[in-house]
Amino acid sequence: MRRPVLLLALVLVSLLGAMAAMPLLEQPPARTATPAAAGEFNELRARAQLATILGDQQPHPADSGASDGVLSRLIGQIRQLGLQPIVRDQFACNTLYKQRGVSCARVRNVVARLGPATGKALLLNAHYDSTPVGPAAADDGIGVATLLEVARNLQQRQPRRPVILLFNEGEELGLIGARAFLADPLSKNVDALINLEARGVTGPVNMFETSRPNGAPITLFANEVKRPVANSLSTDVYRLMPNYTDVNSFAERGWLTLNLAPIGNETRYHSPGDTIAALDPATLKHIGDQTLALATALANGTPATNAGDRIFMDVASRALIDLPLIAGVVLLAILLIAFAVLAIRRGGLARGSVTIVGTMLGASLLAWLLLELIGLVRPGMFWRAHPLWTHLTVYAATMLVGTSLLATVGGGMDRTRLRPVFWFIFVILGGAIGLFAPGGIIFFLFPPLIVLAGAATRRWSPAAERVASLVAIAFLYLTWGGMLGLLQELLNVGPMWIFALLGSLLILPVLVEARPLIANAGVRLSTTIPAVLSLLGIAGILSTPAYSADRQQRFVIQQVTQMPGGKSWWSILNDGAPLPKAMPGRWKRGTLPISDRQRWLSDAPTDPILQAPGVQLLSQSPVGNGRALTLRLTANGNERMEISAPADAQILSAGVDGFIMPIDQSASGKYSISCVGRSCDGAVLRVTLAQAKPVEFTLLGTRPLSPAAAPLLAARPAFARPQYSRDEAITFTRRRL
Ligand SMILES: [Zn+2]
Repeated sequence: MRRPVLLLALVLVSLLGAMAAMPLLEQPPARTATPAAAGEFNELRARAQLATILGDQQPHPADSGASDGVLSRLIGQIRQLGLQPIVRDQFACNTLYKQRGVSCARVRNVVARLGPATGKALLLNAHYDSTPVGPAAADDGIGVATLLEVARNLQQRQPRRPVILLFNEGEELGLIGARAFLADPLSKNVDALINLEARGVTGPVNMFETSRPNGAPITLFANEVKRPVANSLSTDVYRLMPNYTDVNSFAERGWLTLNLAPIGNETRYHSPGDTIAALDPATLKHIGDQTLALATALANGTPATNAGDRIFMDVASRALIDLPLIAGVVLLAILLIAFAVLAIRRGGLARGSVTIVGTMLGASLLAWLLLELIGLVRPGMFWRAHPLWTHLTVYAATMLVGTSLLATVGGGMDRTRLRPVFWFIFVILGGAIGLFAPGGIIFFLFPPLIVLAGAATRRWSPAAERVASLVAIAFLYLTWGGMLGLLQELLNVGPMWIFALLGSLLILPVLVEARPLIANAGVRLSTTIPAVLSLLGIAGILSTPAYSADRQQRFVIQQVTQMPGGKSWWSILNDGAPLPKAMPGRWKRGTLPISDRQRWLSDAPTDPILQAPGVQLLSQSPVGNGRALTLRLTANGNERMEISAPADAQILSAGVDGFIMPIDQSASGKYSISCVGRSCDGAVLRVTLAQAKPVEFTLLGTRPLSPAAAPLLAARPAFARPQYSRDEAITFTRRRL
């Protein structure tokens, strides 16, 4: 074979290897063989304490029998540190963020204090409750373990300011413990918060949220954290997502805030797989070191208020670059003008743009098409256990479209003309992303700046621009590539074609530099190489199992019963893949009267023990044009109760005395008021509506499955488990009020 072809093959294979290695750019530091010295965060001791607290690792949602045990063992561990735990036992409600709802439960927050008795305080927060689905060793056991170990170290460091440890209950139900703490007089003295969360069990710990403006927390983070993993694109995108943590409730106080969480392997999150054994000690060490460093600084004083907003990103978790947002915007504008001038002066802007933009769009389309075709033979999330093969296929397909267009449409253009066109479009994209996520600008400044510096010195050294381009690509890889590696974890449920678009920003500048090789190899040979790589990727997808012991399929088995009448369905929520042949029943895809979500359904026998929860109307009084209702809940054997109302019900507020919470009217959809735990039976709720006409409420209750479900549970595939919802019996009825 001719030399350019071999060289091109080498470039493309290396590039694909580099794309595969992106997740390695952002990893928690390797743990040392020697145990942590005194005064350091000891992740093994923290994990052992967590194992003691979780005991037999049962789910322990708020106000359940299992949570009583976790609570008493947690108190024991706090006492062993020489601290005096205070338990605040409250029946509280909180408004649900970004949706129309209120959630209530009895929560028992555990508070412990260290340092001086008076003065402004640092709050360290984690929640000890779990979802009903799993043991929650990471979510948020990692936070509980970290708080205990950080407290041990802080005591030796004798902080100058009070430090409050809050182990809250009810986060999973709607941040109820955080809301209850805001009613606590202790919260009045807080001026800084470190919140610890989890959305996975492995990988690096991301600092994904701060108070706004972020100048002060970012300066602190940059100064104190040795192995930072954070960027202002993800903090901005997080704000646009429907996710929330305790920080949403605390935000109204305006405390200086840093929010940390690992995101590696979401397949175990909110599932029985979130176990101590699955929790990576390196991840625990990473969150512990960061929390200890930040807490030590904040326990000795808050940084001078720095009002400005900053944009920031880590460089392969070795350094944090940060600059004022306004400086980023100005720099981006300068780059935009400079590359526009350069691209126009060198010529070929139209042809180059078709090549570059065509690759981005064409690659997205090709990746989508390939994955759809694979989905025909491999239904469900075929990438769940081994996502690498799907990523490789998508990136190889991107190279295929890129080399095709560079060899044809861009055929008449050499690199000196293609380069400014690519970076011009790159900077435009940065501006477009900046419109909805200004923090994203940070990723679009330095690589083009380096290329521009090379272009400026070209008249003295012809090779300068080429060298600068390679340096820019290396920098782009360390930053954009590192971020993409994390994004692959975050978007692990898809859509996977999106990585063609995002990856093309890394692949295209390499192909532009390889343009002479592509020209020499010709269209046929230069497209054959990435085509073969794509086929190898597809072969990898088709020959690896979709699920593994570690990364299992989501598979929730429920019995849903409508009252009165007792019409009952078996329901299975999974990724859409066909059910195993052994699953008893006649299964069809469909929806239920209580949910529009597509699922597998089969008729179920009526179970006489099942009863929907009840409400008793204690009183009703007019308020303005609407009315106020006082309701008493009756559990009828249910552990969780939900009262929902259609979108036109105009419910203004709901809750219990002391915690009547407004409902976010800017959100859309149906209204819901829920109560979880033993204390809900007999609880008195107050609900205010803006209108007088009767409303048809849906009363829904959940409890564990009956023994009738045993054959279904036995037929569940080996590598499948419930996630996000537990296996349970759901009973519902309608009631006009
Ligand atoms: Zn959590």
